[in-house]
Amino acid sequence: MGANSPAEGELDHVSGENAVKDVFQEKGKEVEKDVHPLAAFLALHGIDGAEDDDEMESEDEEWQPHVRWICTNCIMPNPEDEVYCWKCNEHRNSSILEQGFMSVSSEPKGVDGSAKPVAKKEICPSQMLSKNLTFSGTFMCGKEKKTAIGYDDRMLLHEETGKSHPERPDRLRAIMGGLQASGLLSGTCFTIPAREATQAELELVHTANHIGAVQATEGQDLSYFTPDTYANEHSALAARLAAGICTDLASAIMTGKAHNGFAAVRPPGHHAEQEQVMGFCLHNNACVAARAAQAAGAKKVLIVDWDVHHGNGTQEIFEQDPTVLYISLHRHEAGAFYPGTGWAHQVGSGPGEGFCVNIPWSCGGIGDGDYLSAFQHVVMPIARQFEPDMTIISAGFDAARGDPLGGCDVTPEGYAQMTFLLSSLSGGRILVVLEGGYNLRSISASAAAVMKVLQGTNPGPLPDDLQPTPVGAAAMLELFMIQRRYWSNLHDATFLKFGALLDSWSKAGERKSSKRRHIGGPIWWKWGRKRVLYDIWLRGQMKHHSSSRHDHSCPCC
Ligand SMILES: [Zn+2]
Ligand SMILES: [Zn+2]
Ligand SMILES: [Zn+2]
Repeated sequence: MGANSPAEGELDHVSGENAVKDVFQEKGKEVEKDVHPLAAFLALHGIDGAEDDDEMESEDEEWQPHVRWICTNCIMPNPEDEVYCWKCNEHRNSSILEQGFMSVSSEPKGVDGSAKPVAKKEICPSQMLSKNLTFSGTFMCGKEKKTAIGYDDRMLLHEETGKSHPERPDRLRAIMGGLQASGLLSGTCFTIPAREATQAELELVHTANHIGAVQATEGQDLSYFTPDTYANEHSALAARLAAGICTDLASAIMTGKAHNGFAAVRPPGHHAEQEQVMGFCLHNNACVAARAAQAAGAKKVLIVDWDVHHGNGTQEIFEQDPTVLYISLHRHEAGAFYPGTGWAHQVGSGPGEGFCVNIPWSCGGIGDGDYLSAFQHVVMPIARQFEPDMTIISAGFDAARGDPLGGCDVTPEGYAQMTFLLSSLSGGRILVVLEGGYNLRSISASAAAVMKVLQGTNPGPLPDDLQPTPVGAAAMLELFMIQRRYWSNLHDATFLKFGALLDSWSKAGERKSSKRRHIGGPIWWKWGRKRVLYDIWLRGQMKHHSSSRHDHSCPCC
């Protein structure tokens, strides 16, 4: 248990109670100014702390007024007499901070756990993550190719002291603990010394005002840039270290000192704009890394952002820049999901038009099938046509199964497959930069799965039954309609197939019940279907008579 862990009893019980009260009473109401920041944060993200409304009512009736422990894994408050977290089923004395996903959560460890009868709950899917982590693949590259890892304990000092903010130091403890316990910090891996980013390096991305505002928090008491974005006396240092680590990793990879790299950093970065601190993010680490890669010789940099939230900061910073291609997959819900940006029609502007690719999901619950389909049919064809010199992954793990904020369903295998696909680009020069992710077991297992691929493990072939859901197919079809004018590598045949899938689902839905008609996808598809199919057919005819560049590594044709 870490020294700063609330579960060890350092949490202010009064504020803990208030947090719970706020979470449960503020449900559905507008956020007021003086509510607990966690409650404000949960309300902002549309999270009410319960699975659904029915469960909500029963929880309310039986809720114990005295909260005694906060779950280390998911930061949900729990009553004293419970041994397992009501939300994620993690044991209250879990050793997840020392061993990450390698720790056993379902058996009691301490005095409390063994002295009392253990109330078994049904097993949460996130607990089964570690079982799925055995890859059968072989090593694909020689041992001389090294993975550089960037980490520094001082980034643990950035903390909303005494509260239980989801963006907490324990995230890095669990990730590093899991990498250590699974043997991924030895062998083909080496660490680079951490240093703070310089003013000049930060100014390639942020305004002097922005850098000054972050710097002004140095040595100051806890304060808030936005209701959900805090800074304590050490936050400015942590932010400079995170950006500095990403800078050095990017140039180490570009100059061949490292084959690829993993930046285990916080505070995260992708919501930070040129002059805006927000969404837990102070400096935009991935953007600083992109500029560092370019300073070290990369002409074109690809940033793939699989954090469940849209990286509004990264999009804004490279809005007009054709040398950085930004591709983001995110939960969007027509702008209702934080931060609301990331519409498919946002494609960059000026010289940067076409160098921003947004794949917005219209709901939660999106899993491996949709993510890997999107990689296969959208992300990889576009990325191959762009031909990056360096690939940066904005790797939030909050789309992971079990995440309390993301509500999506990506597994560690899914992250491994996505990493492996991207490793075929830019000569394998990949930098993974940690963004969000708030279920410690999920982020630790996911980070280990990514790390394993970076170190040369082939995760094996993509699943045979890989297929998008109607939501995924609709998102990709919409994206295709917008992006095909910029990227000729997008295959007409693929999207004709998605159109046919939507049609068949739509018909099946209408047969079953009138309530399920929405399964057919977005309204524009119903009205514009014939026009879209005609356009695709026409373009296919024209392609036959032209010598336009065509990438035939797509497995679908
Ligand atoms: Zn929990
Ligand atoms: Zn996120
Ligand atoms: Zn083809």
